[in-house]
Amino acid sequence: MSNADFSSLPLNPSLIENLASLDYHRMTDIQARSLPTILEGKDLIAQAKTGSGKTAAFGLGLLQHLQVKRFRIQSLVLCPTRELADQVAKELRRLARSIHNIKVLTLCGGMPFGPQIGSLQHGAHIVVGTPGRIEEHLRKGTLRLDDLNLLVLDEADRMLDMGFQDALDAIIANTPSDRQTLLFSATYPDQIRAIAQRVMQDPVMVKVEDRH
Ligand code: ADP
Ligand code: MG
Repeated sequence: MSNADFSSLPLNPSLIENLASLDYHRMTDIQARSLPTILEGKDLIAQAKTGSGKTAAFGLGLLQHLQVKRFRIQSLVLCPTRELADQVAKELRRLARSIHNIKVLTLCGGMPFGPQIGSLQHGAHIVVGTPGRIEEHLRKGTLRLDDLNLLVLDEADRMLDMGFQDALDAIIANTPSDRQTLLFSATYPDQIRAIAQRVMQDPVMVKVEDRH
């Protein structure tokens, strides 16, 4: 059975129109299973393989909840590498095309600090970045996350494999405790189970099996 289309969701009509213009008509499995929970504001752990459409799953939740007139960092997406962060930022900008003046900023390691600090002074609604660099900005006081209401850990298993556990903990300690937290991972090892127990509140678990 194919999934429902996006118009069955409580999404802003301009987001739905933009999805049609991107040729996104039906939800992928992970989107159909996770978006209702995400839009209710609940914490979520989603396990699904690469290419299943996870970015739009959290991206639509993030954009639906965003208050454009409040020019504060409201969402943070953490990714394992600069390449993945750039891909996520690009997809978020595409999904946000119909909303005017949304600022998505990427903050990744391997890039000079100066321009990032300048961009942070100009402000953003959404930050996408790698854990090491985000933590450095928090430590230097060049980034504050007091207004954050949504945290996304994308490819969480890979971030832990890369040794980002301490950076993740430090970042999470700098976010409001009443935030919504979404965790996406291809696998669900004990290390993920442990971090979920520490940083999430009654998370809904969704697992999309591979189709053979
Ligand atoms: P993942 O993060 O799960 O690896 P992505 O979010 O990168 O997957 O999505 C994979 C591809 O599928 C992207 O090219 C994206 O534009 C496309 N895509 C996502 N959702 C849909 C949809 N509902 N309909 C059509 N294409 C989609
Ligand atoms: Mg992805």
